[in-house]
Order: sequence, then C-alpha cells, then structure tokens
Amino acid sequence: MVPETEALLTWYDRHKRRLPWRDINDPYATWVSEVMLQQTRVETVLVYFPRFMAAFPTLKALAEAPEDAVLKQWEGLGYYSRARNLRLGARQVLAEHQGRIPSDPKVLRSIRGIGDYTAGAILSIAYGLPAAAVDGNVIRVISRLRGIRENTAVPSVRRRISDLVEALIPRDRPGDFNQALMDLGATVCTPGTPSCERCPLREHCDALAAGDAEDLPLLPDRKPPREISWDVLLIRRGPRILVRQRTEAMLRGLWVYPMAEGRHTEKTLYAAARRLTGLTLAQLRPVTEARHVFTHQVWLMRIWSAVTEDAVPDGGVWRFVTKEEQASLAFPTAMRVPNTLSFDPDVRSI
Ligand code: SF4
Repeated sequence: MVPETEALLTWYDRHKRRLPWRDINDPYATWVSEVMLQQTRVETVLVYFPRFMAAFPTLKALAEAPEDAVLKQWEGLGYYSRARNLRLGARQVLAEHQGRIPSDPKVLRSIRGIGDYTAGAILSIAYGLPAAAVDGNVIRVISRLRGIRENTAVPSVRRRISDLVEALIPRDRPGDFNQALMDLGATVCTPGTPSCERCPLREHCDALAAGDAEDLPLLPDRKPPREISWDVLLIRRGPRILVRQRTEAMLRGLWVYPMAEGRHTEKTLYAAARRLTGLTLAQLRPVTEARHVFTHQVWLMRIWSAVTEDAVPDGGVWRFVTKEEQASLAFPTAMRVPNTLSFDPDVRSI
C-alpha cells in the first residue's frame, strides 16, 4: 500500500464521520446519498436522506413513484434535475436490469443520471471495486497533494487527477479510501485555508511544501450570475390561488406563481398579467421584494397581490389551488417568500 493511502486510511479509521448512508451496504442507498450530496452540504442531506429513504425505501418504490411525489421530497434541495434523473434512472434499472443496479462500470454509466463520479462512488462503496470517485473535494485534495497547477476544469487535467486517485486506491478498501478523501476534503483540506497542521498527508503534500495550498486548485474565472427581474403575482380567486407547473428546463416540474419578466408599472402589469394568464385582474398592489441566487442567475422579484373573478381553462397550464392543495405541491426555494405570503390574510386584497 502506498504510504499516502496508509496514512489516509489510518486517519479515516479514527476520524470518519458517522453518516446514515454509511455502513449500510445497499447500492440504492449509496446512489441516493451520492446524488443528494452533489452541490449540497452534508448537514442538509442529513435531514433529507432519511426522509427520502422512508418515502422510497427501495429502488422499485422510487421507480414506481410519480414524479410529483419525488419532487415534493426533494423540495428545497435545489438542482431538481438530480431528482428527476434519479427517478428515471431507477425506472431504467427496473426495466432493463431486473431492479439490480449494475456493477459493470460501463453499464452503470449508461444509467440515466449516473456520471463518472456517481458510478465511482457506487462501484467502490457498494461493490468494493477499485474505481475513483472524483468530485470537487477530491480535485482540491489531489491538486494540492500532487501539486497540479493547471486549470482543473480542463478534461485532460481531470483525467490526470482521476489517474492519480486510481494509483492510490487500495484493492482491499476502495470505498473507505474514496470516503476518506471526501472527508479529508470536507473537514481538513478545505477551500481557502486548509488545516494542514492536522492533515495525515502533510509529509507528502506538494502544495504544503511549496506554500501555495490556498491558491489550489486552479479554476477558471466564473462569470457572475445574470440578474433577471420578475414581477411575481399572487392572484386569488375566492379561497384559491393561481399556480403553474413549470415546463421550462430550469426547475421543470416544480410549481411557481405567475411571473412576468421585467419591471412593470401597475398599469403595464395589468396588461402583462392578461397576456401571461388570460385573466383580468383587479386590486393589483405591490407586497414586498425578494431575491434568490442560483448558480447562473439571480432572480430579483417584486411580489404583487391581485384578485380575479375569471376562471382558467381545465387541463391548461394554470391551476387555482386551495391552501391544502398548495401544501402538497413542490415549490422551488426561490418561491419561499411568495409562498409564505400566498395565503397570508394581511395580503388579501378583498
Ligand atoms: Fe491539504 Fe494541507 Fe493536507 Fe496538503 S497538507 S493535503 S494542503 S490539508
């Protein structure tokens, strides 16, 4: 065993985080947890994972669940295509592999939503196979450990990092090794200033010796997110409020209130709302403002309330829902402020 690997595993045996998706030897649970952990903090997943597994305890239960029910369990986690793909992947495994998650790397990567990282995690953690699982944490640790001073977004540099991980993976504990790297990246070799004084790899670390750990990994400059203004409408009709299930690629399947892009005056918003929903509104008035930051966009929302007496056609994109119906739908976090106001009696216009 290479000395770096030995040092890391000894550290892991002493410091590993106790997490509900560890030590359960179930490829389905590993799959769910690894998908949830992408782009999401462990503390958040600690809340969502047990709830999700209680709702869909087996791959079959997930495959047979309606998309709406899966999105509801994912509500607030963000990056909702992960949930849609997880469900579609489960359906594919059920239809094409008798419900058994494949252990052949190539076949596994052909499943919807399973990329190199998730495949590596499932293969090593659930099946004990020596596959690398390279995420942002691992890229950071390996760049520093091996002194990779090139743009890590470049595919050839990524491949090199993956090869370097593979050279370190021990045959007998590949899952523990990958999880140890993840834990080290999350708790010791952190972004910004790492805690090198308590790192098991410090004797082997190129960046520590060179004094540039804080500058690694090298990443391309990110464009600042684009700001988009929206006028969001809370339109009541008696005890119901108007909502729409999104069909756009972003947040597809989630529910939102009517949103008119741009900044309107009260007068132009009446017309914009009519174009958008087909409804004639009354008592339109501004309520508050809210802001939501996505990775590539910032939504600057002005929230309005209004009433209407018009109905919407059955089977169309718009639906008037009661408070109870609204609570059963999955809304993105961007709708948190409108959601809290939607049935607020102080916001009622009539
Ligand atoms: Fe990261 Fe420091 Fe450990 Fe190097 S010594 S791997 S920079 S924590």
